[in-house]
Amino acid sequence: MSRPVALVTGAASGIGQAVAVAYARMGVRVMGGYLPADPHDPAETERLVAQAGGECSMMAMDVTDSASLDAIAAAAVERFGRLDYAVANAGLLRRAPLLEMSDEQWNEMLNVDLTGVMRTFRSASRHIGEGGALVAISSIAGGVYGWQDHAHYAAAKAGVPGLCRSLAVEFAPRGIRGNTIIPGLIETPQSLDSKNSLGADGLAKAGKAIPLGRVGRASEVADLVCFLTGPASSYITGQSIVIDGGLTVRWPE
Ligand code: NAD
Repeated sequence: MSRPVALVTGAASGIGQAVAVAYARMGVRVMGGYLPADPHDPAETERLVAQAGGECSMMAMDVTDSASLDAIAAAAVERFGRLDYAVANAGLLRRAPLLEMSDEQWNEMLNVDLTGVMRTFRSASRHIGEGGALVAISSIAGGVYGWQDHAHYAAAKAGVPGLCRSLAVEFAPRGIRGNTIIPGLIETPQSLDSKNSLGADGLAKAGKAIPLGRVGRASEVADLVCFLTGPASSYITGQSIVIDGGLTVRWPE
């Protein structure tokens, strides 16, 4: 059997890039999607994957555009001959207090962070067969906690486990599993953005309140993605797994 192939959205930065590199080490080939309007260089992911001994093609796409997801899923099959896993990782984070939030801001967030996950899985699952797996990236904001000034983000992220649970049941007869990852604070371009998230100082401060004493690394979430799509998790489906260094189980002091 030829080596498995994964579609990873948002693969030019942060967790998505780390997933591409982790897959390279496992011998999984990657079709990575990137949003051209964003400042990340997709060639960097291809370089890191090649350095790790893997194969990766990066393709422009936008999770708000169904046709672009159909195109990247078909391109994965054309380029590599098969598609086994889909990782719905692309996400947007914006700070917006509810009383100042426009319908456009609300709809944009839901469109990327929730409907984008559905579009990714809908396009990919047309090509994925027995033994395949879907993984979505939610967040402790919405998945566990509330987050002031981020109700639209939290609402979108809260919807992701419900979507994945339903697909787990719907696709089980086809031998396809579906799970959700709920990360805590992970150091990436998103969390380092002090306008919309915590920024470097906020992350350093938050790290001290996390039982394991630090924020997470993108590579640690990537390892969980590999586990949840690979054969070692063959009996796990419909689940939501928190990866947060113990942040959400800490007794408040
Ligand atoms: P990131 O900003 O580096 O990655 C997000 C990626 O999504 C970027 O590459 C961006 O270009 C891409 N993207 C945004 N809108 C898109 C669109 N419309 N179409 C295609 N791609 C689009 O940050 P990250 O932390 O690596 O984020 C990855 C995922 O993890 C996101 O879903 C995020 O919400 C989630 N998450 C992150 C943290 C954290 O602490 N960093 C915590 C919980 C959840």
